[in-house]
Parts: sequence; structure tokens; C-alpha cells
Amino acid sequence: MLNIDPTTGKVLHPRVIGAISPNIHRGTMQHVNGIIVHQTDSYTAQSSLSSYQNSGANGAHFLIDKEGVIYQTASLYQTTWHVGKLKARCVLESRCTPVELKALETFSPTAENTREMQKSSPARFPANADSIGIELVGKAISNPATPNAEAVYETVTAKQNDSLQWLVGELRSTLGVPQAEVFRHPTVSRKNSTEAASAQW
Ligand SMILES: [Zn+2]
Repeated sequence: MLNIDPTTGKVLHPRVIGAISPNIHRGTMQHVNGIIVHQTDSYTAQSSLSSYQNSGANGAHFLIDKEGVIYQTASLYQTTWHVGKLKARCVLESRCTPVELKALETFSPTAENTREMQKSSPARFPANADSIGIELVGKAISNPATPNAEAVYETVTAKQNDSLQWLVGELRSTLGVPQAEVFRHPTVSRKNSTEAASAQW
């Protein structure tokens, strides 16, 4: 269990470096239903930390560098925009109703997200409004030989995985999030399929 400063939503633990940037806050978090694991598409923590200083910047709640150093970049009491449009969870779990399947025949990520957001967790995936985001520093690298192929994210380092595992465990016990509600970003939203693919928790 983590100690959290009740005023600022800051984690009070020597393993977590305070780097909260209010620019990425998007409103009060009412309840946390899940955790989303990301990669930054950058080579260094510094480039992400600097970008969070810009007004209107987007980011997640934590950032883990390649050495496993954990930065807290947003308050646990604030939402951030790190998820994007939700995919229909019923597809992953092979339990879509005939009505849902019919609606999915028309490809529209916006409409799909709108339908999902009318459901409550865990019928839908965790969203911006009810999830904590963890960014792992790592770049998606394109192969010049296959310019049309998806760029491939760098492999998460052992130190990043150690820190991720610790942080996910602490956040789960502190916030009451089940293991089944921790997802890689491309599972819940249409993102590069290799993002956080090598992350373990
Ligand atoms: Zn992501």
C-alpha cells in the first residue's frame, strides 16, 4: 500500500520521484478502475518530462526511464488524456451481442468509443476518466527496408520491468484494481500493436 498525500495526490515513497506537471491534468478522477501501460515513443525520459511542461501537453501519471527510475508526472486524483478512443471490449472477450456485432460492421472508432463509454467498467475497458497511465520510455523504430510496416517499439529493459511490476502491484493494492484490469495500450485503443508488448507485470 502506498501513502498518498491527501491534498496533492502525490505518492510518498522513496522509490517515486515527484515530477507532477499540472499541465497534463484534465479534471478530477472520481474512481480508478484500471491501469494502462504505455511506451513514450521517445528515447529519453527528459524529452517526455520537458514536453509535459508545455501548456496543453498530454501525458500519463507515471514515467519509468530505462534505468527503472520512476517519476510521478500527474496527481492520482486527476485524470489525464493517455488512452484515446476505446475499442469494444466484447470483441476481445468474444461476448458481443448481435446488436453490438451489427454496430461494429460500420468502422467508426468515434462511434465505437461513444458506445463503450455508455457502459460501466468492467463491461468496457478502463478509459481516461477512470484509469492510471504508466509510460515506459522507449522509441518505436521504423525499418527503412519495410517503410510501410508498423514501427517496432524498443524492448522494455529488465530494470523498467522490475519498477513496473513494483508500481503496478502497489497501485493495485492501494486503489483496489484487479490484475485483470491492467492492460497494454493497444489492447484497449487503436495504437501501434507493439507498444508495451515486452512489458511484464
Ligand atoms: Zn500509449
